[in-house]
Amino acid sequence: MEILNSKSYWDRQTWFTTNDFIIIGSGIVGINTALTLREKFPKATITILERGPWPQGASTKNAGFACLGSISELLKDFKTHSSEDIFKLVEKRVLGLERLRNIVGDDHLEYKQLGGYEVFLRKHKALLEKSLDHLNEINDLLYSLYKAPLFSVTENTFGFSGINSKLIVNAFEGQLNTGKMMQALINKTQDANITILNNCNVNEYVEQHTNVLLQTNLGDFKTKTLLIATNGFSEQLKISNVKPGRAQVIITKPIKNLNIKGTFHIDEGYFYFRNVGNRLLFGGGRNLALKEEETTNFGETELIQSTLDTYLKSHILPKTPYEIDMRWSGILGVGNQKKPILKKVSKNVYCGVRLGGMGVAIGSLVGKDLANLATE
Ligand SMILES: Cc1cc2nc3c(=O)[nH]c(=O)nc-3n(C[C@H](O)[C@H](O)[C@H](O)COP(=O)(O)OP(=O)(O)OC[C@H]3O[C@@H](n4cnc5c(N)ncnc54)[C@H](O)[C@@H]3O)c2cc1C
Repeated sequence: MEILNSKSYWDRQTWFTTNDFIIIGSGIVGINTALTLREKFPKATITILERGPWPQGASTKNAGFACLGSISELLKDFKTHSSEDIFKLVEKRVLGLERLRNIVGDDHLEYKQLGGYEVFLRKHKALLEKSLDHLNEINDLLYSLYKAPLFSVTENTFGFSGINSKLIVNAFEGQLNTGKMMQALINKTQDANITILNNCNVNEYVEQHTNVLLQTNLGDFKTKTLLIATNGFSEQLKISNVKPGRAQVIITKPIKNLNIKGTFHIDEGYFYFRNVGNRLLFGGGRNLALKEEETTNFGETELIQSTLDTYLKSHILPKTPYEIDMRWSGILGVGNQKKPILKKVSKNVYCGVRLGGMGVAIGSLVGKDLANLATE
C-alpha cells in the first residue's frame, strides 16, 4: 500500500502522464492492438494495463489449435449464421493465422501443420452422417480460401476406441506453442516502446471532456483514447452481449511412442485434444454445465474433470499407459454469435471482445481492426 501512496514527480511524469492510448488487457487482442497503434503512431504514448502478473484470461491458457473450425461445428453455426457469415468467419480465421504467423514467425510459434481431425464417438453416428452429407457443400463454400477442398474422409489409424471408423480431416489445420506465442508478442511490445503495467486492475472508467479517466488499484490513469480488450471479463466494464465461459484442460506426462499427432475435435468442437510433443492435451466439456461454467473464476469441477478422464481412458488412450500431469482452466468470452464485438462504446472508448474459442486464429486481426476502428 505504501508503495502506491508514494508516487514521485518522475512516476507521475512517466507512468501517470495522460497517455495517447490505453489498452485494458494484455491478451492476444490487447497486444496486437498496441502493436498496430505503434505502427500507425510511432511517437504516441501507449500503455497496456493488465490485472494479472502475466495475461490471465484465455491467451496463455488455451490449447494452441491454429484451426478453422471442425465440420460439425461449422454445421452447428449454420443454425445461427448465414452461409455468407460462415464464409467470412472462416476467412477471418485464415487471414488471422496468416497475420499471426507473419508477426511472430513459425519458429517462435513452434507452428506445425499436422492436420486437424474430427472424431465421432459411436453415440454421435447421426452427427457423422450429417457431416458426411454436407461435406461437399461446405467444401464448395470454402473452396476459394485454399483453392482446394478443406475437408476429406479418412480412417482411424490412431487406436481410438468406441468411435466411428471414419474421421474427417482438414489437412490445413496446425498447432502452436501458446506460451511461446504470448512471450514473443510481449517481447515485441517492449521492442516497440509500449508499456505493460501488470497487477493493475481497472475498476471502472469515466469519460471526461477530452480524456478518459481510469480508476485502478494503482491509482488513476488518463488517456485520450481507451481500447478495451478484456474478452470474457468485459461485463465488469459494462460491455454487453459477452459472457464468460470457463474452459477446463488436462495434460498428460510424456508418453512413450505416442502415435497421436495433430489436432482433434469431438462433438461440435466441445471437446478437443492434441499432442504437445509426446504429451496429450485434452480439454472441453463446457457444454455439460453451461450455466455453472459461465463464470470468471478459474477452477476445475468434478463433473468436467471426471468426464475428461473417462473420455481419455476409454476413447483416446484406451491401451496406452499414461499419467495426468496438470489440470487448469481459462476464461473464454462467448455469446450467441461467433462474430467478435468490435465497436465504439462511447466518445473515446472502443472495444474488441468476444473471441469465443477461436482467439488464437482471429486475435491478431481483431487487435488490428480495433486499433484501426479507434483511429480512423
Ligand atoms: C482452455 C482454452 C482453450 C482454447 N483453445 C483455443 C484454441 O485451441 N485455438 C483458438 O483459436 N482459441 C482457443 N481458445 C480461445 C483463445 O484463447 C481466446 O479466444 C483468446 O485468447 C482471447 O484473447 P483476448 O486477448 O481477447 O482475451 P484474454 O486472453 O482473455 O485477455 C484479456 C486480458 O484482460 C485482462 N483483464 C480483464 N479485465 C481486466 C481489468 N478490469 N483490468 C485489467 N486487466 C483486465 C485479463 O487478465 C486478460 O489477461 C481457448 C481458450 C481457452 C480458455
